[in-house]
Amino acid sequence: MNNSSQVRVRFAPSPTGHLHVGNARTALFNWLFARQAGGVMVLRIEDTDVERSEARFEGQLLDDLKWMGLDWDEGPDVGGPYGPYRQSDRLAMYHEQAERLLREGNAYLCFCSQEELERDRAEKLANQLPPVYSGNCRALDPAEAQQRRASGEAAAIRLRIPEHPIRFHDIVHGAVEFSNEVVSDPIILRSTGIPVYNYVVVVDDALMKITHVIRGDDHLSNTPKQVALYEALGWPVPQFAHLSTILGSDRERLSKRHGATSIANFREMGVLPEALMNYLALLGWAPSGGTREIFTPEELKKEFSLQRVTPSPAVFDMEKLYWLNRHYIKQSPPERIEKLAEPYFVRAGLLPAKPDERIRKWFEKIVALLVPSVDRLEQLPERAALIFQYDAAAAANSPENADVWAAPKTNEVLEEFAQLAGSDAAPLTPERFKTIMNEVKTMTGAKGKELFHPVRVALTGSHSGPEFDKLIPILEEGSLLELPRHVMSVRQRLDRLLTKSKADPSSD
Ligand code: GLU
Repeated sequence: MNNSSQVRVRFAPSPTGHLHVGNARTALFNWLFARQAGGVMVLRIEDTDVERSEARFEGQLLDDLKWMGLDWDEGPDVGGPYGPYRQSDRLAMYHEQAERLLREGNAYLCFCSQEELERDRAEKLANQLPPVYSGNCRALDPAEAQQRRASGEAAAIRLRIPEHPIRFHDIVHGAVEFSNEVVSDPIILRSTGIPVYNYVVVVDDALMKITHVIRGDDHLSNTPKQVALYEALGWPVPQFAHLSTILGSDRERLSKRHGATSIANFREMGVLPEALMNYLALLGWAPSGGTREIFTPEELKKEFSLQRVTPSPAVFDMEKLYWLNRHYIKQSPPERIEKLAEPYFVRAGLLPAKPDERIRKWFEKIVALLVPSVDRLEQLPERAALIFQYDAAAAANSPENADVWAAPKTNEVLEEFAQLAGSDAAPLTPERFKTIMNEVKTMTGAKGKELFHPVRVALTGSHSGPEFDKLIPILEEGSLLELPRHVMSVRQRLDRLLTKSKADPSSD
């Protein structure tokens, strides 16, 4: 079934929380490597830490991975030839292999109590020695030890670390060597019968025929123990590739302190999955010979190479992610963005929960108008304030508008505009708006900024903003729709502003 030269990689998250940037990048690099090589991607759930693992996190991890555009060929949800794919369902295998290691003399029973171990560790540290296991039980007679265990004495199982340095090759870090002096004989099975990470990961990777272990470099120091385990179990050692740490802008390890770090966070912000994928691919990898930064998932599959992954830490640059996101938002078909943007407006109380066809058509125009001004979709409702929130007092009094109000032609321009725009009850069309503005120009002699800024401030509260011929139909049509918050028409805005200035010209 398994072609022996076939690349097989795995992503092995622990369901103890949300999928965050570091793990998502690990998943991505595994996936790119597998897809490029025509290999197999395995998803394995590492839930031996029963206290911290939760089923709901497993569901979310799978959702987040799928949302990013990743898929897998074997895993807890799709099955496969080397399952089960959840460690809690594989305990019998771990016990079986541990007993084999004992039988073959590569592991031994350890009866040391927690207190003894802690005391020993503290002493070693105080004497500036590596805090490795004393080896107290290493020389016990195996038959005697078995008897003690059979009579009910609590016993853990420890691996015998070999008496020679442990070496392995890492695709990112090159040749790595650890002196056996600094590697403790690791516990593989606790006296409670619960197996330990370094051990289960080896049993699983070997039995799942994993050829390349690609993971975060926080696991680099675990690798000598794992290599020793492969050797003791008589199994081939896979290739390793340890990916660099991801740092925040302050060069500290990226954490919640730096703001959004989970995939769910980015999704909520309105980052598109292909933007996130593109950005994560650049964390520690760069294409050969070039400064190119924009890659679609298909292009990444072609270009990616583990050989070009750098061992130095990668700094997470939120602005660059947003920049890429802006690019992908602009590239997306409008219908996709409308669909993704709608919930943000519903949540902000600007659209009804189930907008009808008319409202949807109108909403399309809003999205088209505002999309060029955002780099994530969550910003849209705020940018839409000029449509949904008209504040005459702010228009009249905001310090930003002071220059406009002080300009000599402003009042004249606005009076003319109000009169002409108000002379017809029909909604203002962009064409009629143009005609009116031409007339205002002729009547007042104002042109350019002195003509347009007063009108802009009067209608939107700000002297900068989107083009009028797109904005005006949105205001006019919006005022006729049944919306949770009324949208004021051009005329309503003018009325509000003019009544306001008449009623209280000097109000603040
Ligand atoms: N479950 C481990 C983690 O989430 C992954 C271990 C591995 O990739 O070897 O860090």
